[in-house]
Amino acid sequence: MKENIKSLLKKLNLYHPLQSGYRSSLSFIRNQYLRFVYAKYKTLPSPTNLPPPYQCNFCNSTYTRFVPEYPSPDIAPSINNNTVIAGYGSNVYCPNCLSKNRERLVKAVLQTRLSIDGKRILHFSPEKHLFQFINKTSQVTTVDISPGFYRNIDDSILYADATNLPFKNDSFDILIANHILEHIPEDIGAMKEMFRVLNAKGLAILQVPYSETLAATLEDRKINDPARQAALYGQKDHVRIYAISDYIQRLQQAGFNVTILTPQILMPFRIYAIQENESVFLCSKQPR
Ligand SMILES: [Zn+2]
Repeated sequence: MKENIKSLLKKLNLYHPLQSGYRSSLSFIRNQYLRFVYAKYKTLPSPTNLPPPYQCNFCNSTYTRFVPEYPSPDIAPSINNNTVIAGYGSNVYCPNCLSKNRERLVKAVLQTRLSIDGKRILHFSPEKHLFQFINKTSQVTTVDISPGFYRNIDDSILYADATNLPFKNDSFDILIANHILEHIPEDIGAMKEMFRVLNAKGLAILQVPYSETLAATLEDRKINDPARQAALYGQKDHVRIYAISDYIQRLQQAGFNVTILTPQILMPFRIYAIQENESVFLCSKQPR
């Protein structure tokens, strides 16, 4: 869309509603199509089925396969050469509700490791299924630097710069930032803010794409060109690929105690078609 039309629509407060409507329509059509195509993989929930079917923990549908997503050719070398655990794979989207693997993983962790009832939760850049789940029983605040993009998910979303959060110290019991920090140049500043607004017994789930083979985080402050960022970091709006050890060190530098739920520990959740080699980073103020 031409920039001048975009800015006119923004002035008239029409840009985000139109864009949300467009995205929702596309998503609806894609969903109908996938339900049709994947109908042959649908199974009845049965623990005796072999091989065991995958089950979506949002809509409870079971399929022998979910919808794959692989990196496009412009980003594939960066993802593959650095073996980045970035959410791609053979079972990513639920064909029935379009939940994504990373949402299903966080839900499984929330359900088994935490009690969310009545808790104050800060959810960055809210993902639809995850937001709808936590919003049933918790007091959820959602934020983003471009809140207009998320109004169709939560119309009360607030503007917030993660490096300068508009909340008092100790405001939240749980923080969810699912693939946020790799977008933020001053990531340690954002981590310190997350630490500040989390209460003493609180817990933050801070997921990012990361590499277990890179010795050092791949980043260069001088690069701010989307095409180069896509080629180097695997997404046009990412500013780095974390080396896992450096990611943990940065979280610790911000003050967090980091507990890692390894793929071994997360094995029981594989039925939810999660990314099988992904770890979960549980961050707390006090040692757990
Ligand atoms: Zn589903």
